[in-house]
Amino acid sequence: MELIDGNQIAAALIAELKTEVAAMPGRKPCIALVRVGEDPASVSYVKKKEKTAAEIGLISRIILPPITISQAELFALLDDLNADPTVDGILVQSPLPKHIDEVAVFRRVAPEKDVDGFNTLNLGKVAQEDETGFVACTPAGIMELLARSGVDLKGKHVVVLGRSLIVGKPVALLALQKKAGANATVTICHSATVNLSAITRQADVLIAAIGRPDFVTPDMVKPGAVVIDVGINRVADVSKKTGYRLTGDVAFDRVAPLCSKITPVPGGVGPMTVAMLMKNTVKARRLKA
Ligand code: NDP
Repeated sequence: MELIDGNQIAAALIAELKTEVAAMPGRKPCIALVRVGEDPASVSYVKKKEKTAAEIGLISRIILPPITISQAELFALLDDLNADPTVDGILVQSPLPKHIDEVAVFRRVAPEKDVDGFNTLNLGKVAQEDETGFVACTPAGIMELLARSGVDLKGKHVVVLGRSLIVGKPVALLALQKKAGANATVTICHSATVNLSAITRQADVLIAAIGRPDFVTPDMVKPGAVVIDVGINRVADVSKKTGYRLTGDVAFDRVAPLCSKITPVPGGVGPMTVAMLMKNTVKARRLKA
């Protein structure tokens, strides 16, 4: 079994971006990070994004509206960022408070600044295999992890567990694309799937993105499979100072011995998501130049 080291692969990508940004003439790429309220996970995600941006030489603008912001006020804030020529990329950290329609917010971000890749136009471009768009960061990060780990999906059966707009659907579309590294046969499973384990057992590459700790057990995995664990779940753990530990959707200790390659949690897909956000921001600046 080989561990796919997301930290190492993300660090290589960040180093490449640093070199590219240093060589860019004129204004450096700028990302606006919008975080509504003080959700602890969002606070730590935005901090990490700010730190990585600085490491690469990107400018970041942090905007922290209160949790009481109305949808109209948030739209006005986004309209200002959309119109600002010094802002290349905009990220609105999810989850947003319940009174705000998240998909409407994703749609409000100008497509050419939508470095998170959730705008309708950019999701459509993934389906159309149009590379001028922005691919959502976690699915793009999964594809990059596979490519840099020497996993060619051509002709492989990829089973995706989960059909969210953020992970499951776009990663399935990417694996399906008719291009080098992709060309997989793809099955997507969800909560209404019948006889789930009979399907997951057929997977050459199993991508788990359902948000349930230790859901994927050894009986669900074909020996020799590549397993990508996207899940980030907080599980109570009194031995930790924080009172919890992070675990994936895969019962790692029991499943790993069966696999040819597997990602750990943390240290697998997570670091790639941040790196791909930076890559998209550099691309946004390049496309504008
Ligand atoms: P969602 O909750 O939006 O989607 C979960 C999906 O899993 C749904 O399609 C749901 O089915 C399906 N599902 C839930 N329970 C079952 C079940 N028992 N059997 C089969 N399918 C099931 O989650 P996300 O896609 O946003 O996130 C998934 C996980 O990935 C989470 O742990 C999240 O924290 C993590 N994540 C990690 C990121 C990273 O950077 N590493 C980034 C984004 C997410 P249905 O559609 O029928 O409800």
